[in-house]
Amino acid sequence: MTPEIPGATHLHSGKVRDLYTLPDGNLLMVASDRISAFDHVLEPGIPDKGEILTRMSLWWFDQLADLVPHHVISTDVPPDVAGRAVVCENLAMFPVECVARGYLTGSGLIDYTQTGAVCGVPLPDGLVDGSRLPEPIFTPATKADIGEHDENVDFDHVARTVGPEVAERLRELTLAVYARAEGIARERGIILADTKLEFGAREDGTIVLADEVLTPDSSRFWPADDLRPGGPQPSYDKQIVRNWLLSAESGWDKAADAPPPTLPPEVVERTRARYIEAYERLTGLTF
Ligand code: ATP
Ligand code: MG
Repeated sequence: MTPEIPGATHLHSGKVRDLYTLPDGNLLMVASDRISAFDHVLEPGIPDKGEILTRMSLWWFDQLADLVPHHVISTDVPPDVAGRAVVCENLAMFPVECVARGYLTGSGLIDYTQTGAVCGVPLPDGLVDGSRLPEPIFTPATKADIGEHDENVDFDHVARTVGPEVAERLRELTLAVYARAEGIARERGIILADTKLEFGAREDGTIVLADEVLTPDSSRFWPADDLRPGGPQPSYDKQIVRNWLLSAESGWDKAADAPPPTLPPEVVERTRARYIEAYERLTGLTF
């Protein structure tokens, strides 16, 4: 399933992306057209999704360049993966999923319902699914093994893992990136509910923003004109797929955890259009 790329050594495949090492020690990060929903990778892929998300990530790295250095070295990649891959620095990754949330939903909502706090950050009473938080918060998680959900942890856990100074810096950077991106998205009619960042260190200790950034795969984007707190919000990119999977037409029983059925061409096409729309709306560029 993972494509072989001449001159590159396969290192790792996630649900959606494939990682290779290059002879000079740099990494090649390839975004496939695979799409996941309800924790399943679906068939078929969404044509151009890998390229759209790669371009989106690159655009965001640019928007953030004055806040934090990023890992991208070049977009000069092997022809097989042109447009949907980047060459990046091989960093020592911090084993922390750096999440910023401006709205309450997902695992944050579950924590809040059980404890009144998210990752140890206390929140006011009376918030519901989709509520805007009084201010954005840092809600780190530890990366789970394949098939497991990431586990939310508190700031002290991060401090014990990477040291208090790095932990403080990761929190600062995560919130700064979120603030910048949330503002840009808002101007364009899109709510950035939350986002997950990953950072790594160069050999000299410099903290660098890595992985993909502010794509729909690492973030929750909601249409701003449609916010209705009190229940799940429609997802900007995946709602078409989710609705179809949950519809009688798909015949899929989510609870049975069987592999979902193949997406019909019409659902694939509408989802592709959605990714393009998100890209064009956020960046102001034409895909
Ligand atoms: P999932 O599909 O659930 O995200 P995954 O995280 O294992 O699973 P990917 O996100 O595709 O799969 O994997 C990308 C991997 O590359 C992650 O482990 C990430 O931490 C790592 N990574 C990202 N940028 C760099 C970098 N500059 N240097 C080293 N490793 C990196
Ligand atoms: Mg990942």
